[in-house]
Amino acid sequence: MGVQPQQAASELEKAGADIVGANCGTGIDDMIEVTRAMRRATSLPIWCKPNAGLRSWSMGKIVYRETPEEMAAKLHLLLEAGAAIVGGCCGTTPAHIEAFVRERNRLWRRSLGRLREKREGRKAEAFRPSLLMDRL
Ligand SMILES: [Zn+2]
Repeated sequence: MGVQPQQAASELEKAGADIVGANCGTGIDDMIEVTRAMRRATSLPIWCKPNAGLRSWSMGKIVYRETPEEMAAKLHLLLEAGAAIVGGCCGTTPAHIEAFVRERNRLWRRSLGRLREKREGRKAEAFRPSLLMDRL
């Protein structure tokens, strides 16, 4: 049912898109897989806005179970999958975006440290510090 992520990315690129992406879904784990599938189909920048998990009812209210800390702890997987721009969809809050930004900054500092190590002749691992944050 629906269009597969790799098909969407491929068709959007053929149609002239400058960027492709996805939003919502069932949480950040699902978005990591969607991003991997899109990365296999395109070299365009990938934008993604995972939701905070499947919604459920609690005490008469809609709730989303993925906390800012849980989602931020998986940011590196989303980036490794190919995401260039990250935001949040249903159930995310300003606290989620703040947690992403803190984690992005931590990863960036670690990356800079590794680049310094590389300059000094030690082993280094590259990390793309170009991540943007987005919340509509
Ligand atoms: Zn949503």
